[in-house]
Amino acid sequence: KKYVYLFNEGDANMRELLGGKGANLAEMSKLGMPVPNGFTITTEACNKYYEDGEVINDDIKAQIMEFLATLEEETGKKFGDANNPLLVSVRSGARASMPGMMDTILNLGINDTVAEAMAAKGNPRFVYDSYRRFIQMFSDVVKGLSKKRFEEIIDELKAEKGIKNDLDLDAEDMKELVKRFKAFYKEQLNEEFPTEPAEQMMDSIEAVFKSWNNERAIYYRRQNDIPSDWGTAVNVQMMVFGNMGDNCGTGVAFTRSPSTGENKLFGEFLMNAQGEDVVAGVRTPNTIDQLKEIAPAAFDQFVDICSKLEKHYKNMQDMEFTIENGKLYMLQTRNGKRTAQAALKVACDMVDEGLVTPEEAVMMVEPQQLDALLHPNFDPEALKKAEPITSALPASPGAASGQIVFSAEEAIEEAAKGKKVILVRLETSPEDIQGMAAAQGILTVRGGMTSHAAVVARGMGACCVSGAGDIAMNEEAGEFTLNGKTYKSGDWISLDGSTGNVYGEAIPTVEAKISGDFERFMNWADEARRLKIRTNADTPRDAAQAVKFGAEGIGLVRTEHMFFDGDKIKAIREMIVAKTPEQMEAALAKLEPMQQEDFEGIYEAMEGRPVTIRYLDPPLHEFVPTKPEDIAELAAEMNMDVEELTAIIDGLHEVNPMMGHRGSRLDVSNPGIAKMQTEAVIRAAINVNKRHPEWNIVPEIMLPLIGDLKELKYVKKMVTDTADQIIADEGVDMDYHVGTMIEVPRAALKAGELAEEAEFFSFGTNDLTQLTFGFSRDDAGKFLPEYYAAKIYENDPFAKLDQEGVGELIEIAAERGRNTRPDIKLGVCGEHGGDPVSIEFVDGLGLDYVSCSPYRVPIARLAAAQAAI
Ligand code: PEP
Ligand code: MG
Repeated sequence: KKYVYLFNEGDANMRELLGGKGANLAEMSKLGMPVPNGFTITTEACNKYYEDGEVINDDIKAQIMEFLATLEEETGKKFGDANNPLLVSVRSGARASMPGMMDTILNLGINDTVAEAMAAKGNPRFVYDSYRRFIQMFSDVVKGLSKKRFEEIIDELKAEKGIKNDLDLDAEDMKELVKRFKAFYKEQLNEEFPTEPAEQMMDSIEAVFKSWNNERAIYYRRQNDIPSDWGTAVNVQMMVFGNMGDNCGTGVAFTRSPSTGENKLFGEFLMNAQGEDVVAGVRTPNTIDQLKEIAPAAFDQFVDICSKLEKHYKNMQDMEFTIENGKLYMLQTRNGKRTAQAALKVACDMVDEGLVTPEEAVMMVEPQQLDALLHPNFDPEALKKAEPITSALPASPGAASGQIVFSAEEAIEEAAKGKKVILVRLETSPEDIQGMAAAQGILTVRGGMTSHAAVVARGMGACCVSGAGDIAMNEEAGEFTLNGKTYKSGDWISLDGSTGNVYGEAIPTVEAKISGDFERFMNWADEARRLKIRTNADTPRDAAQAVKFGAEGIGLVRTEHMFFDGDKIKAIREMIVAKTPEQMEAALAKLEPMQQEDFEGIYEAMEGRPVTIRYLDPPLHEFVPTKPEDIAELAAEMNMDVEELTAIIDGLHEVNPMMGHRGSRLDVSNPGIAKMQTEAVIRAAINVNKRHPEWNIVPEIMLPLIGDLKELKYVKKMVTDTADQIIADEGVDMDYHVGTMIEVPRAALKAGELAEEAEFFSFGTNDLTQLTFGFSRDDAGKFLPEYYAAKIYENDPFAKLDQEGVGELIEIAAERGRNTRPDIKLGVCGEHGGDPVSIEFVDGLGLDYVSCSPYRVPIARLAAAQAAI
């Protein structure tokens, strides 16, 4: 089997095998662009490595060595050779880009002999700079030695020499660093730094394979729905040097602005620098326009390549380049990460430019990204009164207010307590990713628009301000100073990720406004999708919000969510603890008009769109009072003494309430509840229909937690008897539907029978997941992390539908339901209804709609469109 490919053997279509970086390097080579020669070790080799118990087998090793020999031939250089040595980079490249997740090693192949020979040709500073960088990267990536200690060694040497800037270190200093670095390496690992280039390379390749399963990578994959069986490819490429002198440099650029989407080349570079220097924020980079003056020929060529790449890939590109002695080399291109605003603008602009069709544009935006557009900004009035304490780079838009924390761990801890925090760091690294996700916003002292913090925050849709160089940081003391004022851990600050302003106070936020691009883009999505998108809403306010976001109906009104409002909870409690039929009647009579009013409000807000109302579902103990004063009040109301009432309340206790007396079981034992709810629904619909005959509301009544046909028939009869009576009494001509949730595995299996009575099914995938796995949706969070760690599960099945197990039950139920009732309406109203991957799956099963929370409606619309395209 072929495990290694030369760049000129591949192309962009071979992404699965060669990874994104490898496939694009191959494609650029094919397009005749200046790409240094190299080869790619496939993702299959990575998977084989794991299959074989974390060893690179002899076959793969032999293929690597064979391709290395070919690379030597192509370049005319030789690995480890004293006269004309070949140095290479070793870089990871998975199928999907995982920024900052995997590692890079540059200048590999250098050792004392090679360095001496290279230095003899002139430019020893460059040679030893490259050498010390290699030791640093190898030690970090392959051996896991702390990067920090190497930086400290550099700082120590600079202090000894009285030097401030790295560029002032001369050849001898670099040589000294090599010596000190190696000594540190030996001291830490009890072995000499490896001098054999082939050994350096094999170790590095293995380290890249291993990095596929480091904690950060696993976390990133879980966040971004990347399966762990994809594996990563490894790219071995001839080095070109940006650190050889002043006509050398290295940089990164986007073909359009990743923040706003503006159609203008955007990027940063540093002369006489290598690799990570630009993004690490060690020196402040130049903007790409300045390259025009510094290296005009390379700049012109670069601009030309950018435009070709964009047209070729039909997407905004994010590129890395190096200039060696005035000559330009391309080291990477990929579709650029961008803010949600930028994503929409680029998509719309590219349609206008004739570069992509609307359908192609729809595929260019990640559904999850829309989140960022829908989230709060600062209250403009409060913002006017606030004075910025500093201003830095607007790295990722949005507004955030929170209490300062200085470490990712602290961010996670404090956020878990329900606090809002802002993570303040010198610069971020991939280790910080979970802390960044937990924080409201991220503020960094160092780093440009392409720094780790900026790129990762943008991807997450988190607010980020970077490069706030005025801040004097004291991480150890848990404080920073800015313009003479000290800010401590726990102090409030606010960040404006769209302007870069930082405020030394809490500022209230307001809801987001949606731009014209959004409307236009979402219309294209709506044209493409097949699935209908409904919302889960329990109040007129939520319903109206969801309609603004494009909801086409309500798939789930959880009636009990309105029970805690105002006087309702009292009436509910009276109903629950009623001892006599009279008490029960009286309580239900109080409740009915209040429920009816709620439903009228929702019907009004939905303006004739379909609304599925689900009957009371939770176990009743959730509603009874717990505070002594409330118990006393209720006892008085009910003419009971406190002991008697307490006994009734205690009687509601269940060992396992989620599998207990809830759902339609409540109606079987208390028929009054279903009757009351039916009355409320039907009367509400009749009233609203009178006010708005054009809406022609057809109530959809949904019974929860049904598991058996006879049970469904029994409860349905209560509903139809009541509804038919009211409709007859009122003398109106109104249709209504009764359906069931499918959330008990038995219901999924017996769906063929249930469909005899149910006019629609709505899959309650929260309960269906809970009952299929047999673990509680409320408690699984406690042990699921261990399941991720042990690689038993990759995802939380309550967030991402378990397509294999729960998915099969849905498939079975859909098929059996349709066999009985071909026009049965099928939807999903569990949390999965707002998850893009789950939506794609549901679309594949041909269901009619998904229903999700209002803020996820746009995400669902886009995900449904992408599923259909
Ligand atoms: C479900 O179980 O998926 C559902 C939608 O109902 P609830 O979350 O209210 O139990
Ligand atoms: Mg449920």
